[in-house]
Amino acid sequence: MAIFASRIGINNATLFMSTTKYIFVTGGVSSSLGKGIIAASLAKLLQARGFRVTIQKLDPYINVDPGTLNPYEHGECYVTDDGAETDLDLGHYERFLNVPTSQANNVTTGRIYQSVIEKERKGEFLGKTVQVVPHITNEIKERIQILGNNGDYDIVITEIGGTVGDIESLPYIESVRQLKWDLGPHNSLVIHLTLIPYLSAAGELKTKPTQHSVKTLMESGIQADILVCRTEHELSEELKEKLALFCNVEKEAVIQSIDASTIYDVPNMMLDEGLDRVALKKLRLESKSDPDLKVWNEFLKRHKNPRATVEIGLIGKYVELQDSYKSILESFIHAGAANEVKVNVRSIHSEHINTNNISDELKGLDGIVVAPGFGERGIEGKIEAVRFARENDLPFLGICLGMQMAVIEFARNVLKLDNANSTEMDENTPHPVISLMEEQKHITNMGGTMRLGSWKCDIIEPSIVSTVYGVRSIQERHRHRYEYNDAYRDAMEEAGLRATGINPDTGLVEIVELPQHPWFVGVQYHPEYKSTVAGPHPLFVGFVKAALEHSKN
Ligand code: GLN
Repeated sequence: MAIFASRIGINNATLFMSTTKYIFVTGGVSSSLGKGIIAASLAKLLQARGFRVTIQKLDPYINVDPGTLNPYEHGECYVTDDGAETDLDLGHYERFLNVPTSQANNVTTGRIYQSVIEKERKGEFLGKTVQVVPHITNEIKERIQILGNNGDYDIVITEIGGTVGDIESLPYIESVRQLKWDLGPHNSLVIHLTLIPYLSAAGELKTKPTQHSVKTLMESGIQADILVCRTEHELSEELKEKLALFCNVEKEAVIQSIDASTIYDVPNMMLDEGLDRVALKKLRLESKSDPDLKVWNEFLKRHKNPRATVEIGLIGKYVELQDSYKSILESFIHAGAANEVKVNVRSIHSEHINTNNISDELKGLDGIVVAPGFGERGIEGKIEAVRFARENDLPFLGICLGMQMAVIEFARNVLKLDNANSTEMDENTPHPVISLMEEQKHITNMGGTMRLGSWKCDIIEPSIVSTVYGVRSIQERHRHRYEYNDAYRDAMEEAGLRATGINPDTGLVEIVELPQHPWFVGVQYHPEYKSTVAGPHPLFVGFVKAALEHSKN
């Protein structure tokens, strides 16, 4: 693939001008239209044509990152290899592209202001009044271009969170306006994702909200180049013409995005609508080949033609909001396809589980996942679910807090250590089988201070995990403060809970499993962050396989 870079001489100095192309995705009319999926789908098509693409999310809220947000507020917090706590859309980007993202791929208003204020305190703007324009907008533009400047990508797609017209997103929209100008013609384009509502009383699709939202964007000096229209019904040619006429876009740049049964259909739908072709034409980029979607379509085929079904229980306390466990749910879709199995995930609220109802609550399941989480609420239900899985040979996967619950359950019910607990839940527990690491004890700030990002783990053989991973050393992503307490390791191992994954640098236990059980694995890390369409995560694949075995018995 051609590298789009050139050198231009100015006053004897040579300025390196990256000619990375930029695509901005804005949203209109309503939130939750799926900008992330459209951005990821377009990126997938461009990648499948041979371009090096990355996607970035700009979030207009004032939190420095979503790490301090409750999942009810903003869904799952997604963690990257470099330990950034980010928006869940980055999960979609990685799952679609199979390329890791980093801190640079997610920027919030909080982070922008934090950085500008730090510069102001250092005296970098000395003498100047620090203002939204140009200081905040410059910072935003810099953050957008960081990804393009190092020559790693041919195309950077930047998704602007929120809806056009929101007070909070104004500085971002203004930055896009300036950047379009800075970059010059054909080096950037704006895709506006909008909603075409269907009024059943009138039996009609309505374009007016879109016309208004395109106008709102124009009031900020931005003309949308492409409209992607979310709709429940097919857009007629006539309606596309009308949108083109009223919104100043070519008819071929009016792209229909009809409701899909799975998000993984969207790249092919966008291909049929020509979104990638129109984008490349506007950016004056040539693609030598049609998109190579072999791996993607093979996945879709398996996903849509399962040979069997398994029922998995997801035990968590944020189950009311599907987005809270987004990456886990998507990992099951990838692992299901890998096994040619349909995975039905039944969400079970951990607060509703107790000793009396546990067998009813988990009836008919072929496996359970005990989910990550923070705080005391719902943990006794999780511990009860672990006990049931352990005693009844039910395949079990414990993730982060779920692994910690498995350790606590084992301590209480097998080692008979009464009131064993994590010091997160009970500071005065007589048996702190999960406890705070020394380094964590003096931390007072909540944001960005957990054990985060990618850490090495050596796998001990023979074990379930050595079979599923097929390698001796792995790297997985973490997000937690508390750890397996090594003081109890000998007793645990002797009684049958083996530590089969160890961090080679710190000696921390990362994986526990029960060799006597058909499939019982707890991991201190988050495998769900690394599962992608092209690379389903081995732990999920192995777990689904075990659940399939269970369903046959
Ligand atoms: N609350 C636990 C800890 O901080 C687990 C965190 C998680 O599940 N991500 O260690």
